[in-house]
Amino acid sequence: MINPILKRALKTWGEKAQMLMVVEEMSELMKEILKNINRKKNNISEIIEETADVEIMLEQLKENYQIEEKVAAYKADKIKVIENRLNEWDKIQPKTEEK
Ligand SMILES: [Mg+2]
Repeated sequence: MINPILKRALKTWGEKAQMLMVVEEMSELMKEILKNINRKKNNISEIIEETADVEIMLEQLKENYQIEEKVAAYKADKIKVIENRLNEWDKIQPKTEEK
């Protein structure tokens, strides 16, 4: 369920502004991840901030398109697929030798 303050933000500032803000915040997070990996920058506080910003905007995106339940269901299915892949992965990895 969406935070009522975020619902109010979407209603107040509107679909166009808020959906553009989703993209803007995602690009800010992308930039911080790239700095961290490519330039070995110690920017964990920026990554924390931008992750929070993206989560806030994704809540508004789900509210805007009324897709919260479908996203949750899809996510649960995807996690099962990942689990299956991990189990297959574990089967083909060489076992570490016991001492
Ligand atoms: Mg930001």
